[in-house]
Amino acid sequence: MKVTVFGIGYVGLVQGAILADAGHDVCCIDVDQNKIDNLQKGIIPIYEPGLSSIVEKNYAEGRLTFSTNAEFGVNFGELQFIAVGTPPDEDGSADLKYVLKVAETIATHMNSSKIVIDKSTVPVGTADKVQAMITNVLNERFLSSESQPKFSVVSNPEFLKEGSAVSDCKRPDRIVIGTDSEYAEDLMRELYEPFNRNHEKIIVMDVKSAELTKYAANCMLATKISFMNEMANIAEKVGADIEQVRQGIGSDSRIGFQFIYPGCGYGGSCFPKDVQALVKTSDAIGYESQILKAVEAVNYSQKNKLFEYICQHYFPELNHQAVIENKSLSGKTVAVWGLAFKPNTDDMREAPSRVLMDSLWQAGAKVQAFDPESMEEAQRIYGNRNDLGLMGTKEAALNGADLLVICTEWQSFKAPDFDNMKSLLNEAVIVDGRNLFNVQRMQQKGIKYYSIGRTPKQ
Ligand code: NAD
Repeated sequence: MKVTVFGIGYVGLVQGAILADAGHDVCCIDVDQNKIDNLQKGIIPIYEPGLSSIVEKNYAEGRLTFSTNAEFGVNFGELQFIAVGTPPDEDGSADLKYVLKVAETIATHMNSSKIVIDKSTVPVGTADKVQAMITNVLNERFLSSESQPKFSVVSNPEFLKEGSAVSDCKRPDRIVIGTDSEYAEDLMRELYEPFNRNHEKIIVMDVKSAELTKYAANCMLATKISFMNEMANIAEKVGADIEQVRQGIGSDSRIGFQFIYPGCGYGGSCFPKDVQALVKTSDAIGYESQILKAVEAVNYSQKNKLFEYICQHYFPELNHQAVIENKSLSGKTVAVWGLAFKPNTDDMREAPSRVLMDSLWQAGAKVQAFDPESMEEAQRIYGNRNDLGLMGTKEAALNGADLLVICTEWQSFKAPDFDNMKSLLNEAVIVDGRNLFNVQRMQQKGIKYYSIGRTPKQ
């Protein structure tokens, strides 16, 4: 089948590459000329395990093409994916300007029938807006509705996870298709047939339910994280160990072990904005979403947790606001391991590391940071600050630093050489936002260890 994908980011590029790999002809369109030039040279703009070889292979074999020529893209595929960003607006609701711009572009150039597929995460009612945008432009272009090319708008939310996006797209848990058109459903089933062979994964529903399904899924996951972080904060205060509690509740099959790790808060391009957007959707219809507001509030305070531990370590008598106002960490250097919002990605959007580093800088500290994949991204975001050293190895980040903070649970951080670590750090102190180490072992090794929901008070 011939498919066009608008927006070649984490979602569009992976989806386009996987569809091409299954044999479809895929034309990827982006407004970012630099990105397209690089892709044509074989330079992949994001780090995603397994992606580059699939892109290279399908590009070389001619099933995957990259262009900024939107008119060409519109005329290429009957199936037109919209996979552009939906960032939060100033008030937290989803900004649909990129989605509607693509809808306008499709309507401006289409001369044959199209299935327009919302792959971006968009609030309930967006398909209607896309429908209205296309209809308006077609009404301007064609004198009568009979002479207009036909189209149908489908909601097909994406559930891939950064870090395992390739395998998620190749072997999806489910494929949600929101449509009331039999013709569109049939084409979507044909498109996804290669991914639907093992057992039935396609779930067809009405458009609004499909749109809400995506938000409901992300909000449920964010809720699990904030719930666990709240339990961790309670555990810490009552002297319990959240890791033992986690084992205790995860073994209940109704609860399960997935997504109940306590930590320094959720980040990334999806959970924070999707929770906010659903809160805004609810507000707009006069329903107060009490759970979602609490999920956001817990996450906001959890992202300050690591900085609070540092304050507690140096200035137990001061609150963290006072530490910032007095610039009390001037002269201190903090090693940060992990800048990405989670392992196996270079994505730093809304990452807890950024909240931590902002507070450290405000309080006068310097940062020496290392991440296995996000160094270029950090350079792009922060440029050459003299209070940030982007170090080549995790050991280099420790060298001469006063303490270590771990923000991301990369595999390569899980079994460090603690003796070497102690020799490199000025003080043997670890603040661990991901509970990577055993508390007793840290005590035996003479390391002062702060972690989430189980820090022994000394
Ligand atoms: P992204 O920011 O990585 O990529 C978006 C791309 O769209 C950019 O390359 C941008 O240049 C391009 N673009 C903007 N306007 C365009 C236009 N008019 N025509 C063509 N290209 C245009 O975004 P992403 O992370 O891939 O997310 C895309 C959507 O998918 C969002 O709605 C997001 O919420 C959703 N989503 C993301 C993930 C994820 O893990 N990143 C997972 C599921 C769903």
